[in-house]
Amino acid sequence: MNISILVYGSHKFLSTLPDQIRYATTFSIEVIANVIQAVSHIKMTPPDIIIVQASLDGSTELCLWLKDQAKLSWVYCILLEDNSQHLTNRSKQGWEWDLEMTSTALKQGADAYIWHIPEEQIDSCADSTPSHSLILAQLTVGLRKAQKYRDLLRTNDLLSAIALADSLTEMNNRRALEWDLPRQIQKSREQASPLSLIILDVDYFKKVNDTYGHLVGDRLLQLLCSRLRQNLRYQDTPFRYGGEEFVILLANTTGEEALIVARRLNRLVNEKPFTINSQHTINVTISLGTASLEADDDEQGFSLLDRADQCLLQAKATGRNQVISWDYLSHVSHLKAASS
Ligand code: GH3
Ligand code: MG
Ligand code: MG
Repeated sequence: MNISILVYGSHKFLSTLPDQIRYATTFSIEVIANVIQAVSHIKMTPPDIIIVQASLDGSTELCLWLKDQAKLSWVYCILLEDNSQHLTNRSKQGWEWDLEMTSTALKQGADAYIWHIPEEQIDSCADSTPSHSLILAQLTVGLRKAQKYRDLLRTNDLLSAIALADSLTEMNNRRALEWDLPRQIQKSREQASPLSLIILDVDYFKKVNDTYGHLVGDRLLQLLCSRLRQNLRYQDTPFRYGGEEFVILLANTTGEEALIVARRLNRLVNEKPFTINSQHTINVTISLGTASLEADDDEQGFSLLDRADQCLLQAKATGRNQVISWDYLSHVSHLKAASS
């Protein structure tokens, strides 16, 4: 595990920290003494642990800011109280004041609050205890938390991958489409860039199952998916929508460009048979519908999907193994309406 620690403090403060931290080889240490720089560093490369010098300007602001960052909730913040006035007060005022200081620090976002008496002052503070062992103990707590968080992230990634992938073809599944489509629509609107979509369905796929059996049908779907994937551009994202039906989101793509992509896929499938095994080589064709995002489409993408689906149905109804675009379909229906 590559642990990182940010020390918010001066270099002099760093020199008061335990050697195990200063000379550690198992984790990286960054030292920053400016709150603005510290915040931007944390945003860019969040550390696992922050050790804060309480007497440095901005220490309270930094702890409060960190506490408000929901996305950084795992970062373990150790506040070291090195303010000489507070240290003197502590020996004078007793444990109630000590507790009050600690509870204030915890409320302000620190995960641990430690009285930090630099070693050279230990002798002069009669009732103080060396803070090094406590700092190292809190560091262990922080490391444990970081390890747990990282494990959780890994499990989360794995679960997301399982939840969003189709187990047969390893393609993104319908749930992934339902997650991605609204985001792509929003992005396309924000950036004023076109977004298009292809729906395709294998022609007479039932016959493949009926003739060769379900396992051959499965293998054919896998081969079809990998052929589709290999022939898409980097901005195209394919999804298995259901059975033998697929959706491809084409970011930054106009309707005309989508038609070119769809025609290329159509050709790539029907021109070359799929070799299932030494006994079976199967020819299949696909039908495709294309549509592009329009200004009055809903945010979820239902109307966009619906237009592409109407095109697919039309492609099926008028012979299969072809592409029908929404531009073409709406043009034809206008002509029909005009002539009747
Ligand atoms: P059309 O040209 O109208 O699309 O005809 P079709 O035969 O492809 O359409 P239909 O919807 O009648 O049949 C789809 C078939 O796809 C039926 C279903 O058993 C099969 N299918 C769906 N998912 C899978 C799968 O994961 N594996 C296999 N082997 N078959 C599947
Ligand atoms: Mg079909
Ligand atoms: Mg189908």
